[in-house]
Amino acid sequence: MVVKAMFSGLKHVFKRRMTVKYPNQRLKLTERYRGRHILDISECTSCQLCSKTCPTKAITMVPLVEKPLNEEPPEKPLNEEAPKKKKREEVYSQISYELCVFCGLCVDSCPKSALTMTHSFELSDYDRKNLVYTPEQLSEIPSEEEGRYVTVFTKSGVSHHAD
Ligand code: SF4
Ligand code: SF4
Repeated sequence: MVVKAMFSGLKHVFKRRMTVKYPNQRLKLTERYRGRHILDISECTSCQLCSKTCPTKAITMVPLVEKPLNEEPPEKPLNEEAPKKKKREEVYSQISYELCVFCGLCVDSCPKSALTMTHSFELSDYDRKNLVYTPEQLSEIPSEEEGRYVTVFTKSGVSHHAD
């Protein structure tokens, strides 16, 4: 019995490894891998389609915390009539990565392509609060460090190269 178990283990010594020593070795992700989102605030029209499409209710629409000073509306002259249509509320996607299942439906539904996804997947944190990404955080491009995927599987085993 013991010999049989040893033989079974030994067989795998000469087989191609299917695992990598993460985080020192990383897998090369496919081009269309769905990782952390990027929000282009300047393209977003606050239509809220992304949050309505999200199947897990991971997206909340919130105003920006810090508004640029030059975005204050100019003072209205006293004799000017009030606008008939109410302007759309300026709210932007805030995503909770506690709830997001990376399905990409929000990206598909965005009519302005303001929401896209990156290869960044290292989002774990000890504090659940940090899993909620504000629009400002989502507009930041992930660092190069987050985007290095340098290990690929080949027929002869695992190979490493700069991506
Ligand atoms: S990827 Fe899917 S689950 Fe995540 S925020 Fe978008 S729609 Fe919601
Ligand atoms: S990210 Fe796209 S879908 Fe979401 S509110 Fe902005 S424009 Fe609309």
